[in-house]
Amino acid sequence: MNVHEFQAKEVFRRFGIPVPDGAVAETADQAERVAASLKVSPIVVKAQIHAGGRGKGRFKEHGPQGPGGVVLAKDPKEARAIAEKMLGKTLVTKQTGEHGRVVKKVYLTAGCDIARELYVAVVLDRKIKKPVVMVSQAGGVDIEEVAEKTPEKILKEAVDPLFSLAGFQARRLALFLGLKPGEQANEGAKLLKALVRAYMETDASLAEINPMIVSKDGKVMALDAKMNFDDNALERHPEILAYRDKNEEEPAETLAKELDLSYIALDGDIGCMVNGAGLAMATMDMIKYAGGAPANFLDVGGGATEQKVTEAFKIILSSPQVKAVLVNIFGGIMRCDVVAAGVIAAAKKLGLKVPVVVRLEGAKVQEGKKLLEESGLELEFASGLAEAAQKVVAASRGGK
Ligand code: GDP
Ligand code: MG
Repeated sequence: MNVHEFQAKEVFRRFGIPVPDGAVAETADQAERVAASLKVSPIVVKAQIHAGGRGKGRFKEHGPQGPGGVVLAKDPKEARAIAEKMLGKTLVTKQTGEHGRVVKKVYLTAGCDIARELYVAVVLDRKIKKPVVMVSQAGGVDIEEVAEKTPEKILKEAVDPLFSLAGFQARRLALFLGLKPGEQANEGAKLLKALVRAYMETDASLAEINPMIVSKDGKVMALDAKMNFDDNALERHPEILAYRDKNEEEPAETLAKELDLSYIALDGDIGCMVNGAGLAMATMDMIKYAGGAPANFLDVGGGATEQKVTEAFKIILSSPQVKAVLVNIFGGIMRCDVVAAGVIAAAKKLGLKVPVVVRLEGAKVQEGKKLLEESGLELEFASGLAEAAQKVVAASRGGK
């Protein structure tokens, strides 16, 4: 689960990471009041969306000459005017895609005099099975580009999950960041250790500060904050789960969560309805192998009901990018006739605007096929996984 900057900063504060003062607002009036209560100048007004690149992003409504998603204001009146330009408007950044995101909240925070912008993050390195602290002096910019073109500008230290980040590692990272030996490097090392604690204790999958700054008066601070959390651990962290913002989620993914379906939208154009995560993975591989690209990962689960199958199929059909659908079910606990009934119910309700290839195998397969054949729906049947994949890829291209 992803959260907003202001929420990640709340977590940071809880773990003793220095963050400039700030508060969130949902209306222009509120923004002015909050800005006044900060009693500083300048004030930074920051659009809150689940995507980075806000500083360089632009609003659809205001065009390329208009404000970005991070703007300095000299007083509360100006902060109010800027908030008004952001709230309810669509911010497009490198990370949102063309459709952008509607801004529902702005964060007002004390402006800082920046001397240097640095990059700091904790991420899980799946290869070594440990969290890794990554730092670079090239902060404020695209870290992916730094990693690709000048990897020597990044230093990584692996974290021992039992002992956390060791003092010598934190100091090594702080010095690599060019922090002045003595108080400044110590402050930096302390911040890094606190960030690792925040990451570990909240079951985060990412904790990123870009930029971490050194202010003109030599203070080290988190100016931006991004955290991602492991969905499977949220049960242990009700205070983090409370940060969930459905406005920021794909509607299909929200619906899938409510139905307890494992659904992930992807970039391709072939919708997949499968039972079992392993079969779903194999199905996606076979589609790729046949030259196509899956539009989603969807596991309806072992014992799905007809209603659940109906809803799952509706989610797939309602995606505009889907050009063909593959239903690939192996009936073990799941019964093929239940799947068939769900497919028929969804198709009758929404109409089939795209070709559908069905491969059923296992429990009650004859009953399932019979239901589908008698439904009057235009379906194509396949008997093996390879054949099913080839047929659906051909269908997605409008051929046979
Ligand atoms: P992002 O673009 O979504 O990553 O948002 P950031 O919070 O990282 O802000 C983008 C940029 O705005 C930063 O890299 C800074 O250069 C600038 N910025 C943000 N806050 C302040 C501030 O308090 N003072 C100044 N002078 N610049 C700021
Ligand atoms: Mg940033």
